[in-house]
Amino acid sequence: MKISELLGKTHRDNPAEVELDSHKLMLRSAMIYQVGAGIYGYLPLAWKSLRKIEEIIRQEMDSAGSQELRLSILQPKELWDKTGRTDAFGDDLFTLTDRKGRTLVVAPTHEEELTAIVKAHVSSYRDLPKILYQIHTKFRDEPRSRGGLMRVREFDMKDAYSLDVSNDGLDSSYKKMVQAYKAIYKRCGLEVIQVEADSGAIGGKDSHEFVLLADSGEDAIVICEGCGYAANIEKARFSRVDYSTNGQSELKEVNTPQITTINGLTSFLDIPTHKTIKTLCYVAREELILVVIRGDLEVNEVKLKSVLGASEIRLASPKDIEKHGLSKGYISPVGINGFRVIADESLLLGNDFAAGGNKNEVHLINVNYPRDFKADDVSDLAQATEGQGCIKCTDEKLKIKKGIEVGHVFKLGDSFSKSIGATFADESGSLKPIIMGCYGIGLGRLLAAAIEQHNDEDGIKFPVAIAPYQVHLIAIDAGKPEISEMAKQVQLDLEQAGLEVLYDDRNESVGVKFKDADLMGMPIRIVVSLRNLKDNVLEVKARDSDQPEKVPCESFVEKVKSLLTERGFYDLKG
Ligand code: ATP
Ligand code: MG
Repeated sequence: MKISELLGKTHRDNPAEVELDSHKLMLRSAMIYQVGAGIYGYLPLAWKSLRKIEEIIRQEMDSAGSQELRLSILQPKELWDKTGRTDAFGDDLFTLTDRKGRTLVVAPTHEEELTAIVKAHVSSYRDLPKILYQIHTKFRDEPRSRGGLMRVREFDMKDAYSLDVSNDGLDSSYKKMVQAYKAIYKRCGLEVIQVEADSGAIGGKDSHEFVLLADSGEDAIVICEGCGYAANIEKARFSRVDYSTNGQSELKEVNTPQITTINGLTSFLDIPTHKTIKTLCYVAREELILVVIRGDLEVNEVKLKSVLGASEIRLASPKDIEKHGLSKGYISPVGINGFRVIADESLLLGNDFAAGGNKNEVHLINVNYPRDFKADDVSDLAQATEGQGCIKCTDEKLKIKKGIEVGHVFKLGDSFSKSIGATFADESGSLKPIIMGCYGIGLGRLLAAAIEQHNDEDGIKFPVAIAPYQVHLIAIDAGKPEISEMAKQVQLDLEQAGLEVLYDDRNESVGVKFKDADLMGMPIRIVVSLRNLKDNVLEVKARDSDQPEKVPCESFVEKVKSLLTERGFYDLKG
């Protein structure tokens, strides 16, 4: 491909108000064009790279025994009502109305349709197990699209679905997918970690995300450097400090004028925060719920949502609190009835707490659980913070890092098959719901993440397997016939060796051409010049090295191949 003919011009300067490196570099190297908020067109360079990512994913999915199919993007809303996900997706769901007035969902993901197809085509245990996948466009009306291809409203995803007769079967399909994902990231040149993830309000058990650690990431990842435990903060467990002492003192009221916060209470009573209990009022499905946690910890709303099985929750407003006859700033579950109480496990790790007295300007001291109140559920609700103890190895202190989620695997269980009625007859003929898993990788986000992880101040440094071209060929004095002849020959030789070449044939200065080569980031740069021609050499340089090398014209193809081999190209091509 000649750069003079390539669609799109490079830009020297960083675009204004763009945060992410990958976004800046993709705009500057003319890979993407923004059509609207969170909507992009892919220019030829991006598309070439995305096609390579797609092929790597396809090869790994196929070799894991998965079958490719293709589902529709427009789907009847009724299908989504069956699983309750019209509400669960809420405003993120794009819908449209057809000429007959029927509402269609513009699919943000495909569990519903896939399960409906499976219902029609799987009837017996003999038809299982299966793993099905597609690579197709998804639409989500994201509230905050940002960062180029990182979070967009229209994007391509590889989504796969496993179908099994049992949880053991699911475990084995899940393992296969995890292996395939690891192979995909490796081949794409991404260093990722696998972390425990929240499995959402839909139900299901295990879930993992594949995360690339980066300061620009939106996800907070809790990591133990001792044992390797890693989890999204939405899910991360940790070992709570046990502050219990012997004995339980007598429950007492104390007057606490104008004390409405935990900080106020601790200084007023001169006690540490872990000697207090915080009660938060949340509303889920119109119900007011009391959420109780030790004062030194914070509630993590994603954990709370999954304990409540609710897709939407909110903190109660002062009005809600008043309506239920509660005294804001003085609430606790002690001595009041009629509310569901959800407690964090930390209540078991302390005694003689101070808590609200359910009267204005009154608190209680020496509150003990379960002596003084009952909870409907005691669960892990607390947010992990830096420095807390690891749940697995307990002695190490947890660290929190930022990360980009580049894939998600999820044991769904039978929630979708039950709501859509996808069953199979087991060996004794009785009907059972199919046990499902789902597995997603966003292609554009993967490309953006790869650039986020592989760049320097001059530009992109493409991993070899997903570079649009392996070689960036520069001709100095490209107008001179002997140079253009030579360049043509170099390109031909490389192409005959199965390599792809981007040829800068423009009448630009050497400086501009070198800058563009660094910006566009192909793994190998080759320079053809009169001086080199005289010495019968070419200058060859890898993008990730500072050392250009003069290589005899007879052996440059071998040199390029060996540089690519060192970077894993031939192993990673599949
Ligand atoms: P996030 O938490 O980042 O919104 P998600 O949990 O909604 O992601 P899934 O529904 O599990 O994502 O989708 C699977 C994969 O699709 C993600 O791991 C990511 O790679 C990609 N993806 C999801 N949403 C977007 C988006 N808005 N733009 C680009 N890629 C996306
Ligand atoms: Mg999302």
